[in-house]
Amino acid sequence: MPVPAPDTPALPTFADVKRAAGRIAGTAHRTPVLTSRTADAMSGARLFFKAENLQRGGAFKFRGAYNAISALPEEVRRRGVIAFSSGNHAQAIALASRLLGVPAVIVMPEDAPQVKVEATRGYGAEVVSYDRYSQDREVLGREIAQARGLTLIPPYDHPDVIAGQGTLALELIEETGPLDMLVACLGGGGQLAGCALAASELSPGIAIYGVEPEAGDDGRRSFHEGRVVTIPVPRTIADGAQTTYLGALTFPIIRERVTDIVTVSDDELVETMRFFAARMKLVAEPTGCLAAAAVLHGKLDVAGKRVGIVISGGNVDIASFAHLVSPAA
Ligand SMILES: *Cc1c(COP(=O)(O)O)cnc(C)c1O
Repeated sequence: MPVPAPDTPALPTFADVKRAAGRIAGTAHRTPVLTSRTADAMSGARLFFKAENLQRGGAFKFRGAYNAISALPEEVRRRGVIAFSSGNHAQAIALASRLLGVPAVIVMPEDAPQVKVEATRGYGAEVVSYDRYSQDREVLGREIAQARGLTLIPPYDHPDVIAGQGTLALELIEETGPLDMLVACLGGGGQLAGCALAASELSPGIAIYGVEPEAGDDGRRSFHEGRVVTIPVPRTIADGAQTTYLGALTFPIIRERVTDIVTVSDDELVETMRFFAARMKLVAEPTGCLAAAAVLHGKLDVAGKRVGIVISGGNVDIASFAHLVSPAA
């Protein structure tokens, strides 16, 4: 059966986020919202951390993956799904597929963290590797999908993926009540766009920020230039945000609902990982620290405000984690 032409579907809405919340209920974890007096004192704000590092599969990506696969018609689902990912989306698709009894193929960069590759295989998915600096994963993914009749689930530019990611902000604001600010981590924009759909409806007037690595500021540039800017693969320890452009669906949502996009350095990410480990007893991966790093390093004016912060993932090799959080010599 031919793969449908990749024409752009309609933008997801807040209604899609609510539908996604219904689909993932009882399967995805309703992750805790954590607070820290130390972090509040450091920032002069009231901070609410949504701990998606404690989500199934170790990152918020499970929400979008499970929602997207659940939404497929039965006969499409049975043939299987394919995903390309630097790691967490892969794990999420592998886990969601297993839970839904769907075969999965994952296209992963050959330098992906070993812990992510192993976890993906452990969930029963077939892993195909590629060189992220010379091969286009989207082209490879589409070729395999076509050859085997699989449905491609992209990591961010898909209405059901975006809607699924938005459920984290829905849960957060249900728990905290209205917030002044929401700060999300930004790669391709699934998390930021989904959270913006939910937050702008549930907390009118909320200021919404995306945070990306300094080395990969395509989101900030795209936001300010009003068009999707493509950059070379950024070299950063935030391996989950090594995306090179925002999506055709995520960009317009971000443009309409997001207040601004700021960046943080790799050093600031490492300091934030140390803070989470030492003060909050949390293992967060570098990419998962983007939003918190911006707040804790004074990139945003948070004084006196109620601020939601996404800790987006916790998948980091234990050896890398130990190396990164041990005090610099
Ligand atoms: C994928 C990912 C991101 C970026 O999410 P996008 O939806 O691509 O913007 C941030 N943090 C972690 C831990 C991720 O896995």
